[in-house]
Amino acid sequence: MAFNPDIHFASADCQQWHCTIHQRDEPTEGYRLCAECGHMFGTPEELIAETFRLDTVAYIEGWTKNPPREQDPEKIHACPHCTHDF
Ligand SMILES: [Zn+2]
Ligand SMILES: [Zn+2]
Ligand SMILES: [Zn+2]
Repeated sequence: MAFNPDIHFASADCQQWHCTIHQRDEPTEGYRLCAECGHMFGTPEELIAETFRLDTVAYIEGWTKNPPREQDPEKIHACPHCTHDF
């Protein structure tokens, strides 16, 4: 078991805390953990900001017609990175 905050490929040693979006190990304590990509949203603010940022990209790129808006973190039910349900 080795916690490695630098960018690296996942291995059996770090599966439990490896984030496949950022390719690094992240804390296991935080606001919400995505079971799919392993990303830890440390605070509700991070979840709101990342959802807003990626919704903005999707809107600009034309993947969605819904303009981005700030959302209640308790009502965000999917990981903005991998779109997997929490
Ligand atoms: Zn890792
Ligand atoms: Zn995810
Ligand atoms: Zn991550």
